[in-house]
Amino acid sequence: MATTTKTGQAFDRASLESVLKRRLFYTPSFEIYGGVSGLYDYGPPGCALQTNIVDAWRKHFVLEEDMLEVDCTMLTPHEVLKTSGHVDKFADWMCKDPKTGEIFRADHLVEDVLESRLKGDKEARGQKIEAKGEEDGKKKKKKVKEVKVVKLEDEVVKEYEETLAKIDNYNGEELGQLMKKHDIKNPATGGDLQPPVAFNLMFSTSIGPSSNLPGYLRPETAQGQFLTFQKLLEFNQQSMPFASASIGKSFRNEISPRAGLLRVREFLMAEIEHFVDPEGGKKHPRFEEVKDVELALLDRDVQLSGSTKVTRKPIGEAVASGLVDNETLGYFLARIQQFLEKIGIDKTKLRFRQHMANEMAHYAADCWDAELLTSYGWIECVGCADRSAYDLSVHAKKTGAPLMVREIRKEPLQIEEWVAEIDKKKFGPKFKKDGKTVETAVEALSQELREKLSLDLKNEGKISIAVPNVGDGKVELGSDLITIEKRSRVEHTREYIPNVIEPSFGIGRIFYALVEHSYWTREGDEARGVLSFPPTIAPTKVLLVPLSSHPDFKPLVKRLSHKLRAIGVSNRVDDSNASIGKRYSRNDELGTPLGITVDFQSVQDNTFTLRDRDSTKQVRSTEEKICTAIKNIVEGVETWEQVSKRLPAFEGQQLED
Ligand code: AMP
Repeated sequence: MATTTKTGQAFDRASLESVLKRRLFYTPSFEIYGGVSGLYDYGPPGCALQTNIVDAWRKHFVLEEDMLEVDCTMLTPHEVLKTSGHVDKFADWMCKDPKTGEIFRADHLVEDVLESRLKGDKEARGQKIEAKGEEDGKKKKKKVKEVKVVKLEDEVVKEYEETLAKIDNYNGEELGQLMKKHDIKNPATGGDLQPPVAFNLMFSTSIGPSSNLPGYLRPETAQGQFLTFQKLLEFNQQSMPFASASIGKSFRNEISPRAGLLRVREFLMAEIEHFVDPEGGKKHPRFEEVKDVELALLDRDVQLSGSTKVTRKPIGEAVASGLVDNETLGYFLARIQQFLEKIGIDKTKLRFRQHMANEMAHYAADCWDAELLTSYGWIECVGCADRSAYDLSVHAKKTGAPLMVREIRKEPLQIEEWVAEIDKKKFGPKFKKDGKTVETAVEALSQELREKLSLDLKNEGKISIAVPNVGDGKVELGSDLITIEKRSRVEHTREYIPNVIEPSFGIGRIFYALVEHSYWTREGDEARGVLSFPPTIAPTKVLLVPLSSHPDFKPLVKRLSHKLRAIGVSNRVDDSNASIGKRYSRNDELGTPLGITVDFQSVQDNTFTLRDRDSTKQVRSTEEKICTAIKNIVEGVETWEQVSKRLPAFEGQQLED
């Protein structure tokens, strides 16, 4: 997809990729062994950038909202993920070419083929074509054949476009039908494909030497947080609502990893589980603070109509009209946007897309993804779902652990109910080994049934209840064994299972989108790329450049470097022979926001020039003032514009920019 940079130039992915590779932001893992798709290592600037994004996340969410951070294990026993539904349902649809053995992810294949046909149609109609970017370079050519320039019927174009707008909504069977209907085959060979089958995305392993404890590498950090709920509630002095948070690696055995960091098999996640009382509309105590934040929303009805047009509205309005299900979900959508903007994401390339019914987990009440526009199209970078009480309920049911909240009621509650009581002394001898089963069946009787049975008991002196697997599936109980009567009681406490709102961030995707959004080239010099990260997020904050290798500069550079480190500002020295302009432009590629030049005047009067990466403008002042300005800019207390107004501009000659 053709995108533009912040200066309005056409975005050139090849040139950005060359920068990222040359400057070691990240690199394929195990490359000298041929590499493994979907696995990447981060180099020094990549590590620093990732750390700074995570730090900003921690400040914005954990600190600002007083969340309870936990760090749970990645190795997870089978039983936990069986209970959560991942063993049975955490799958994508894949289809195989029986001749070549190639495997395709069904939804991606349908998407690629239909997009390619639409492109061919546009070309046939003589329309301008956007640069395609679903796959990089050679790999893409191998998978999807050259675009065939064929004009399609108008209705076909419409149908393809509608199908693409709903592509996330299809299940395996529907994808199979689409493949049949649109004659979708192996794009490289034209060979037939088998119908889609589910492929579970979890990496399995076994824990311990005896191999009798099967497990998986976790596919999300959420389950660990749910399992510690009870302890966290206690830690929080039983006070609700509260949120836990976790930052850590997750693993998914993606069918076809692609698009660099966007679809990988091991990635860093930052997840929040906000536990809220389901009664009272899931209000959020701080919703007032964000209600005017305007979001670009793409709701499910618009998508189902085959369109991708967003509507901009304040989150307060979206919640009030019911478009976004509740305040807590709305609060987090606004906070997600604020976080993304803070780290340098281009707000015009952000939208919130609502999940369609099939896309959403069956238990979810509502779900919105924060999607960022990149040259690979709109990419889901943060998922924000209302998971209802599902996770806590299933784990509580499986283990018997009370994953619930017990609260003293403000007003005691008067309850009238039908109580069934058995005579345990007679019950045991009568039913022997089946005693417990019959007792459980009695406990499970609904209030309506109890009321009806109380009449039977009164009129006939006995009742008959269904008890599966005992005798013929029915058991008779006489009035000597059971009594059923209406009683009233007062309840002083209330028990409930909290609902969970879960914002889930993929740090690698945000990292990549940020890099794309920050990249541009200087006018008239397209070979000079600049990464305009905000100073708080930039991997290194300051470049120190002595004018030449003159020995007088060395002690000054050393002193400045130490001083900046002492105030927590990362810096690097470039004392190579390259020209000053060249040294600066090398660091523009690394996103270093500030530069200090040490020149002959510095030796005489201890003043230095400070250069701004984006404008290349400079100011000159004393060491003290320069260091304070740097600290302020790096901590986000002051902007370059403010600093350049209060410190004298430097228009000198020593820089060959
Ligand atoms: P999900 O649990 O599928 O909603 O994923 C939560 C977040 O994790 C997404 O919004 C992505 O940012 C990220 N994510 C999911 N799968 C991958 C992947 N294969 N590679 C990189 N990031 C991913």
